Amino acid sequence: MSKNYVIGYPRIGEKRELKKVLEDYWAKKVDFSEVEYVAENLRKRHWTYQKEAKIEYIASNDFSLYDNMLDTTILLGAIPQRFKDLKDQELYFAMARGNQDCVAMEMTKWFNTNYHYIVPEISKDTTFKLNSKKVIKEYKEAQELGINTKINLIGAITYLGLSKSIDNSDVFVHISSVVKVYKELLEEISKLNENIVVQFDEPLFVKDLEPKVLSLLKSVYDELSNVSPNIRIVVTTYFEHSNEATKILVNTPIWAVGLDFIHGSKNCDSLDLIKNSNKVLIAGVIDGRNIWKSNFEDKLNLLNEISKVISKENIIVGTSCSLLHVPFTLSYEEKLDGEIKSWLAFASEKLKELNLVSKQFFEVKLSLENIADIEKNKKDNNQRKVSTKIHNQKIQEEIRSLKQFERADKFQDRIKVQREFFKYDYLTTTTIGSFPQTPEIRENRKNYKANTISKEQYEAEIKKYIDYCVAFQEEIGLDILVHGEPERNDMVEYFGELMDGFVFTQNAWVQSYGSRCVKPPLIYGDVNRENPMTVEWIKYAQSKTSKVMKGMLTGPVTIINWSFVRDDLPRSEVAKQIAHGICKEVDDLQNAGIKMIQVDEAAFKEGYPLRVENIKAYENWAVDNFRLSVSSAKADTQIHTHMCYSEFNDIIKTIEAMDADVISIETARSGNRLLKIFKEVAYKQEIGPGIYDIHSPRVPSVEEMVNQIKALIEVLPKEQLWINPDCGLKTRKWPEVKESLKNMVEAVKIVKNI
Ligand code: GLN
Ligand code: ZN
Repeated sequence: MSKNYVIGYPRIGEKRELKKVLEDYWAKKVDFSEVEYVAENLRKRHWTYQKEAKIEYIASNDFSLYDNMLDTTILLGAIPQRFKDLKDQELYFAMARGNQDCVAMEMTKWFNTNYHYIVPEISKDTTFKLNSKKVIKEYKEAQELGINTKINLIGAITYLGLSKSIDNSDVFVHISSVVKVYKELLEEISKLNENIVVQFDEPLFVKDLEPKVLSLLKSVYDELSNVSPNIRIVVTTYFEHSNEATKILVNTPIWAVGLDFIHGSKNCDSLDLIKNSNKVLIAGVIDGRNIWKSNFEDKLNLLNEISKVISKENIIVGTSCSLLHVPFTLSYEEKLDGEIKSWLAFASEKLKELNLVSKQFFEVKLSLENIADIEKNKKDNNQRKVSTKIHNQKIQEEIRSLKQFERADKFQDRIKVQREFFKYDYLTTTTIGSFPQTPEIRENRKNYKANTISKEQYEAEIKKYIDYCVAFQEEIGLDILVHGEPERNDMVEYFGELMDGFVFTQNAWVQSYGSRCVKPPLIYGDVNRENPMTVEWIKYAQSKTSKVMKGMLTGPVTIINWSFVRDDLPRSEVAKQIAHGICKEVDDLQNAGIKMIQVDEAAFKEGYPLRVENIKAYENWAVDNFRLSVSSAKADTQIHTHMCYSEFNDIIKTIEAMDADVISIETARSGNRLLKIFKEVAYKQEIGPGIYDIHSPRVPSVEEMVNQIKALIEVLPKEQLWINPDCGLKTRKWPEVKESLKNMVEAVKIVKNI
């Protein structure tokens, strides 16, 4: 028999049905019953797809109207005090999104993915009680379709480990209370059927855990395993290896462990232990994080390696993690190049892969159709290897013969030349790049893409907007200007569209948070930047002012971290090709007279590995490629970078090693606290700590910003500081932007006494 297992399935819907109905509901266009109706249909449809694809272990409770951590908070009744007067959907969405009276709960990234969960708020007084029927209801729903699902739950240790303590108390003091609720829930589950699998997701175990946390594991899973003989417990981890936890779990009565063999190949070190304990292994070999067609031969080799240790009876073939992190289906990609499309597999295609791989592994008789599919898989993979679309000899040769990997001059020398050249003194004012993306500029871009306006019309609109931005910045007296980025809808997509090796889909949406989805570009081949990408626009903007116009690029690490990246080349190599392209752009800009250039690395920190043991390697290639991307800059070209956060304590030396002349960061919401580390390490380069929060429409007063600036110069000498907002202004509206920036310039004048 072929045994296969899907950790979890996307829920937003192949046409983003859930997104649409939620947004209609929030806009009060439909009732909640409409949301429930759509949600139920989505669940049914997703189960049916999996059943049709012959998936044996199909999840329930992987669905959520917003987020499963939030669902777990509801399940456990751990509702923060401020929401106590609300119930049902009002409560649920207020926790997720806030309402008139209550601020929303915090949201943060789910490990190293772009999925965001709602962070539980725990204090020493938090109480837990079984508080939701969702799990039971959804199991029964599937049962009506004739599907006995396995039930997904967030593990108790991961739940508490990812929550935040609002009173600095230890969140783990609640572990026994959480386990008690789970036991009660398992009791109820055990009545549903005589044989039910319950999956506890414990991805926290892939991090470097403190012994204190590891010490909880045994008793938690001893207890949960003993609730009912009707229940078999799976503990699953993903995104990395979890060897420390596996060592303990094999000594509990759980039925199976689910491990990721794609992003956690070190899990192989645990195979002996698993074998000796006679546990079942769910071997995650179908990649839930990337979009490339599996190579069946590789998958079978890997599984055969595993089965040298663990007998086939004890192996189930699974996805590496939930398929939530990949787009839904290729079916609606009508415009995608046919060849490239033949190299891809999204969630629904991965179901088919899973079935075919497990059938082959367990030597189940193949149908004629199966044989044809397996042949096609082989053919497509072989064809991809030799495709001329992927391999660009010219670029490969250029990369091989690179001689310069960093700027020729040292910062100390450069900064002298730059200060003379640009003639700025201190607390120089600038912005991060974008100005409001108005309905008009969106419309303009849309019309141009749809071919309803000519290139001339399109460009005339952009120029008009640049003129407006330049005039405004001059009027309020900013020192360093930007063009406003009206030609870009997204800081990665814009560059991806202008370089070879990228492709864009119509419908490859991935849930980012709640109803929000992102559609990352696909990097499928060698990246080549043939022509200048930004030079004409920046030159135009510069021609409109005698002040300094700052050029605006996106850095290689951010482009990589916000794309689906080819898997036939190390990420570091792909980043190098991108860096090489950016480097040419930097050179063209400086030759065109643009001598101040910002290379944004908004997502630099997002790429950090989950395990300490891998951090050095990431930092090395990330820093190297950033340095390469600006290596063409002459001494008097000033390189800026920007990062959308400011917790630099652990990585300050790495940031310094990037060697940007100026870095702007996000600090407004935390006063001068986060700047202190720059002082502690005697950071050399210049810094623009954001002095106002751009995430809110609120206009900060002059006084407030004066105070903020004063707080900053208490920490660092004013000569080392620039003054700017926290981040780009594209999501804001003009009236707010105008007032805020005016106040910002005014505040600097007051501090400078002019
Ligand atoms: N230059 C970009 C902008 O201003 C930077 C955006 C970002 O850091 N996320 O929009
Ligand atoms: Zn930013």
